[in-house]
Amino acid sequence: MKTLIAANWKMHKTRAEARKTAEAVVAGLPGNGRSLIVFPPFTAIADVAEVFAAREGLAVGGQDVYPAEKGAFTGEISPAMLRDAGATWVLTGHSERRHVLGESDAFVGRKTAFALSSGLNVMLCVGETLEEREAGQLEAVLRRQLREGLADVAAETAAAHVAVAYEPVWAIGTGKVAGCAEVLEAHALARRLLRDVVGAVADEIPLLYGGSVKPDNAASLLALDNVNGLLIGGASLEAESFLRIAEAG
Ligand code: PEP
Repeated sequence: MKTLIAANWKMHKTRAEARKTAEAVVAGLPGNGRSLIVFPPFTAIADVAEVFAAREGLAVGGQDVYPAEKGAFTGEISPAMLRDAGATWVLTGHSERRHVLGESDAFVGRKTAFALSSGLNVMLCVGETLEEREAGQLEAVLRRQLREGLADVAAETAAAHVAVAYEPVWAIGTGKVAGCAEVLEAHALARRLLRDVVGAVADEIPLLYGGSVKPDNAASLLALDNVNGLLIGGASLEAESFLRIAEAG
């Protein structure tokens, strides 16, 4: 399976700043066969797509999507609009959307299914809060998020067009990376739960880890069983550290 290294720029970067970082990513591309996906803010998707110019191993995605073709949904964006701007991927269920913006599992599932049926690849994010982990609910949370997130997705579609990012909420943007033992355990669990949801093709779905990934911990994370890539927030904002992560291991 191809290793995916994904950058979530969140609400950072003007178009000019995004273009500059994207140009530096292209200039320093590792050529180690890994696929790099950048999720810029909506306003910069077309710029980053233009810089990447459909180059092998580089893709652009939206950070969110609304599950409808068009209509009276002020502030939202459709899959067709994302594709029109050059995106081939979209994030669904990022913890900031679940916990800051209050998105439910069911809504994440609708977005995932609709984006896939509109021709986008989806990176579905799952992960427990610290309270849930401490209450022994890791398995229940991941099971619910995977089951509802992929509720209306055919197994073959999931195998071909879905990646899952496990991102413990307590490790996102906090500098607290989950330890290797915790990541190993959570990824084995996520793989098993994915099999319950989509069957044997679960083994073809890339499972990424996200949460305070940095150049100095990337190699040890990528070496773990069932870790098929990384989703990076803070450390992806500078091309230099993003590229060091992409080269790690
Ligand atoms: C993220 O937002 O998906 C993320 C993993 O952020 P950070 O790397 O900053 O923890």
